Amino acid sequence: APGNTSPLLHNLNPEQLAAVTLPAEHALILAGAGSGKTRVLTTRIAWLLQNGYVSPGGILAVTFTNKAAKEMKTRLSAMLPVNVNGMWIGTFHGLCNRFLRAHYKNAGLPQAFQILDTQDQLSAIKRLCKQYDIDTERFPPKQLGWFIGNCKEEGLRPKDVVASDPDTRKKVEVYQLYEEQCQREGVVDFGELMLRSYELLRDNTAIREHYQRRFRHILIDEFQDTNKLQYAWIKMIAGQGSDGLLNGGGGAVLAVGDDDQSIYAFRGARVGNMTDFVREFAVQRQIKLEENYRSYSNILDSANALISHNSRRLGKNLRTVQGAGEPVRVYEAPSDFLEAQWMVDEMKQLIRDDVERKEIAVLYRSNAQSRVIETTLFNAAIPYRVYGGLRFFERAEIKHALAYLRLLENPNDDTSFLRVVNFPARGIGTRSIEQLQDLAKATGCSLHDAVSTLSGRPGAVIAGFVAKLDVLREQTAGLNLKDIIKLMLENSGLLEHYRNEREGEDRVENLDELVNAAESFVMQEGFGREAPGMTALVSSPEALTQSPASQGLSGAALDAVPDEFGDTGETLSPLQAFLTHAALEAGDNMAAAGQDAIQLMTVHSSKGLEFDCVFITGMEEGLFPHENSMSDHDGLEEERRLAYVAITRARKRLYLSHSQTRMLHGQTRFNLKSRFFDELPEECLKYLTPKQQPMLAGGGFGSSWGGGGYATNSGAGRAYSTGATGQFGTYSAPQKEVPRKEEPTGLRKGQKVFHTKFGEGTVLTLEGAGDDARAQINFPRHGTKWLALSVAKLTPVP
Ligand code: ATP
Ligand code: MG
Repeated sequence: APGNTSPLLHNLNPEQLAAVTLPAEHALILAGAGSGKTRVLTTRIAWLLQNGYVSPGGILAVTFTNKAAKEMKTRLSAMLPVNVNGMWIGTFHGLCNRFLRAHYKNAGLPQAFQILDTQDQLSAIKRLCKQYDIDTERFPPKQLGWFIGNCKEEGLRPKDVVASDPDTRKKVEVYQLYEEQCQREGVVDFGELMLRSYELLRDNTAIREHYQRRFRHILIDEFQDTNKLQYAWIKMIAGQGSDGLLNGGGGAVLAVGDDDQSIYAFRGARVGNMTDFVREFAVQRQIKLEENYRSYSNILDSANALISHNSRRLGKNLRTVQGAGEPVRVYEAPSDFLEAQWMVDEMKQLIRDDVERKEIAVLYRSNAQSRVIETTLFNAAIPYRVYGGLRFFERAEIKHALAYLRLLENPNDDTSFLRVVNFPARGIGTRSIEQLQDLAKATGCSLHDAVSTLSGRPGAVIAGFVAKLDVLREQTAGLNLKDIIKLMLENSGLLEHYRNEREGEDRVENLDELVNAAESFVMQEGFGREAPGMTALVSSPEALTQSPASQGLSGAALDAVPDEFGDTGETLSPLQAFLTHAALEAGDNMAAAGQDAIQLMTVHSSKGLEFDCVFITGMEEGLFPHENSMSDHDGLEEERRLAYVAITRARKRLYLSHSQTRMLHGQTRFNLKSRFFDELPEECLKYLTPKQQPMLAGGGFGSSWGGGGYATNSGAGRAYSTGATGQFGTYSAPQKEVPRKEEPTGLRKGQKVFHTKFGEGTVLTLEGAGDDARAQINFPRHGTKWLALSVAKLTPVP
């Protein structure tokens, strides 16, 4: 074929070459991770352009994330001189947005239509429920949101829904009202972007035929995670509608995917689209790529072994030309805090060995896990970036919570006041707030102080908010930081608000994490736990003037805790100190765009990416596999695919870690290591900590799981049926108590000790052995200290 000598094609294997240079026909590439699917897709676009088979305007390429779209554009412009910015390369939502902007009139939208995120959508539904007196006990707004979202994904408008019972009829009624409200306000939600584009293509022949003629090549990456409506949209734009709209004039569709990496079933993704595509588009050519170019074989073999435990697979092979490489490192930590510590130590070593920070990724199953990792990286002054999410203290729900806390400290903080005066919604309109702002401006006082001069209903409603804060201030006086936050979360209505939200689960988890953050802040900064406020902290005046060094302890005191609050910590209340800490940590921009930073993200958002070194953390039962998925077969298989995605992100070095205890959802949990460890080939692994002792044969399978917290349901029982082949012996019995390891030092965690200068304290952490042994000890009067045990004089207190 012409153009097959192009330098673009030099580094392709024969299968890849065949895929890149396919004639203009529908085709499917089904291949495993790291086999070059995305590279083939990008190279094909470049090859088509270079040979003049298509103009840049004739390409439609769909990626799964904005990051992937950006990367594809960067690659393309590196391959040939083309203005990629004008090209239709993007996510489904991004492309639909662009399409609707171009045809807003035909789509019946205002030119500047706004997009509602899930949060906005829920508040819109709530407003509507109130206005129309919808019984929200019977029809919780978040369920109404799901209903509407599902209808849209099925391509159904209110009139199309078959409502056979009164409840459904009511929901359809709300759907109808919601649509009218959105239309009135000129806003669209995510589902609407997709559905409205689809309908416009379906109903407007001129527009449809225009695009069918225009897009000669339609290329879709991550095809395994498309949903029903997205697939219908593709058929429409490719002129392949099964509903009589087929005109044969559409472009060629190249779908690229890996069934083993389908991880969005919970959001409506249909792996079945792959087989439907082959049938409905009469695909003649299916291309398999079997060479993995990304990872060394220890990593790849681990991934292959793991995924082989799934039953429903389309079946493909994957091999690597690279050697074994380094073993996959497995680490077991006593706590999530120490897991993060270890990881950061490991990272420091990698960085010393000249690994770029952006080539190091930390992957976790759920967002709430990032907080402890972020804090540890922050304390170590290592730049990092969190993808697919904001830094912890910048998240909206956390900012709302901090605003309430700030108002407890300072009612005149207008920014915080405005942030939460009507959040959660309490019927305070923008007009009332403007009035209040005018009053405050006129008298030069804070919004809080102006409230008493605001008359009428607005005055009364806002005064109610102020009174609520006053009550909360009363109630929290004298409580410790953790309890202050807990009470605030309940009484402000924040927790309840997010519990009722469609995708509020993550936010509730994050609010719980805020409680954890406060708890560890108090421990690390050495605030007297039982003594709130400053009394206990300044009760010993010489404590403020005498540093350990001046006491001749310089050799012993390894003050590893940064002295950030050395000057202020003793005079601020724990709440004030914590708020300062939050503001500093969120305000810091070490990881500004473009800077070389460690990459933090959930496994879901790591799809399609690759890094030299990957840490997968929290490989524990209940977390990964996630507890919500463990009780059914399909859920467990999806978790395994997630683990497969995670492992296959690594090029050279892979770490898998798990922790015996973990603070999650505001409580300490005792976790077993993930069952996925037993599905990995032993010869590929290297244990950095002694492998857990095998459980004694006949140790009572059922009974030993009794107190485990997870894994007590029948689903887990089935999943553990590998026990029948003798493999389950590698699991240790679940621990019901914090492991109280006797250290050679004679000290253990939680032990009370006496120090001649610092007085009585409690051991928080023990590290190292022999001469290097050191302990982190919390002395109520002097804060938390690291002490070298070979030097420090400590006496255990019985
Ligand atoms: P995933 O399933 O994770 O999305 P993928 O199949 O899309 O993976 P790519 O990301 O395209 O795989 O490729 C994986 C890595 O292998 C990339 O770094 C890519 O540049 C490299 N690669 C692909 N094909 C070749 C080749 N023929 N020669 C050298 N390197 C290659
Ligand atoms: Mg890819």
